[in-house]
Amino acid sequence: MAMSNVGEFGPCACSGTIQLRWVEARFVDASGDALVVGQVPQGYCGTCNSSYYKASILQALEQAFAKQRGETKASAL
Ligand SMILES: [Zn+2]
Repeated sequence: MAMSNVGEFGPCACSGTIQLRWVEARFVDASGDALVVGQVPQGYCGTCNSSYYKASILQALEQAFAKQRGETKASAL
């Protein structure tokens, strides 16, 4: 995996400093499906407690969600 550049997150809306950290991310989509992904890079602002994900990460999560939904549907039919 390529090295992550914390600079990609830019400054926080509160003008605080965004730090890169690795977290276990849990996402729930509109239909209530939960997806837990271990160790994703997250930008975190300790000043206002906001967290950010890179667009590429969100895109990968969307794809993982779509795959999970597809498999769930296939097994239910
Ligand atoms: Zn902030």
